[in-house]
Amino acid sequence: MAQKNIPVLDLSVGINPLKNDISRAIDAVIQEGSFINGPQVKAFEGAVCQYAGVQHAIGMNSGTDAIVIGLRALGVGPGDEVITSPFTFFATAEGINNAGAEVVFVDIDPATFNMDPARIEAAITPRTKAIMPVHMFGQSCDWDVIQAIAQKHKLLLIEDAAQAFGAQYQGKKVGNLGHAAALSFFPSKNLGAFGDAGMLLTNDAKVAETARMLGTHGSKKKYYNEILGYNSRLDSIQAAVLAVKLPHLDRAIQGRRQAAQRYHEILESVARVERPYVQNWNEHSFHQYTIKVPSTHRDQLKAQLEEKYKIQTMVYYPVSVNKLPIYQGSYQPMPVAEKVSGEVLSLPIWPEIERATQEYVGKAIKEVMEGL
Ligand SMILES: *Cc1c(COP(=O)(O)O)cnc(C)c1O
Repeated sequence: MAQKNIPVLDLSVGINPLKNDISRAIDAVIQEGSFINGPQVKAFEGAVCQYAGVQHAIGMNSGTDAIVIGLRALGVGPGDEVITSPFTFFATAEGINNAGAEVVFVDIDPATFNMDPARIEAAITPRTKAIMPVHMFGQSCDWDVIQAIAQKHKLLLIEDAAQAFGAQYQGKKVGNLGHAAALSFFPSKNLGAFGDAGMLLTNDAKVAETARMLGTHGSKKKYYNEILGYNSRLDSIQAAVLAVKLPHLDRAIQGRRQAAQRYHEILESVARVERPYVQNWNEHSFHQYTIKVPSTHRDQLKAQLEEKYKIQTMVYYPVSVNKLPIYQGSYQPMPVAEKVSGEVLSLPIWPEIERATQEYVGKAIKEVMEGL
């Protein structure tokens, strides 16, 4: 059953129909000549506010910057501890450390891949200042439970919503759940730019003002720098591209959800393959469709899918963050996250992926697993 190569993500299918609109939008930026802080940036920030129902959106260079700047704008810094998940992209922890704070990991729930709310309170110390839940793979955390803990202990809540923009928790958009939220528009994210881009969302005017200042060299008024900041702004060209794509985000997520439902059915009868668990409060955005297989089989499965079937898959993430070389020795084991890191495999998914492609992937997985 020879087929063409199946990538883990095909961005071109979604972009092609928008190409003319995107080209026109980029042309307008070139005509305008305001490549930094152009009108496209304000317009896109406004569009995101409307979409997410949030009051302030501040464009930045990247999601990573939004984490650092968001934490600093909330007043998190040296001497503070921030609780987060060890099962995430390193940028979550890196952002906390670059804000000057210490990372405290709380192990995950293996079913949802998200930080296990039942373990949070045990990790709180007098130095805990904030909790940064990560909505992993596009599935929102159990927000009400986390929020109740945060309120009880007077902690700040900042969402790492890099993978989950467009997802919902009980009808409310992710990114509008806590004191602030970091979004990433990295090209492979559900709403992707044509380069690095990110955004901070908040309903707190003071936090918004400080964040904007931090991203502009710590100045409100040009050349009157007040605090040590960064050069982190959203480019006008990226904002123009994103503004064209945003109105199509919900449709794209709908496509991903349908694709996920199809995988769910296709993989039902495949032994030793655990399909992702979707919580009932959730409008999952399926940034990834991630299965679990026994760790003794995972690398073999990935290799054979690639070699025999030309199917590309990804391991997000092969090393639990607490075990990364940078932290070697400084953290207690996170048994669940470490175990899951050996079992996960993210399958090809994009909004327009065809049923036949998914059936081919499913058949290939079944054949490989039966031979292992
Ligand atoms: C992508 C990602 C980031 C970082 O976003 P960038 O825009 O690449 O800097 C942070 N956290 C998570 C969970 C991510 O997936």
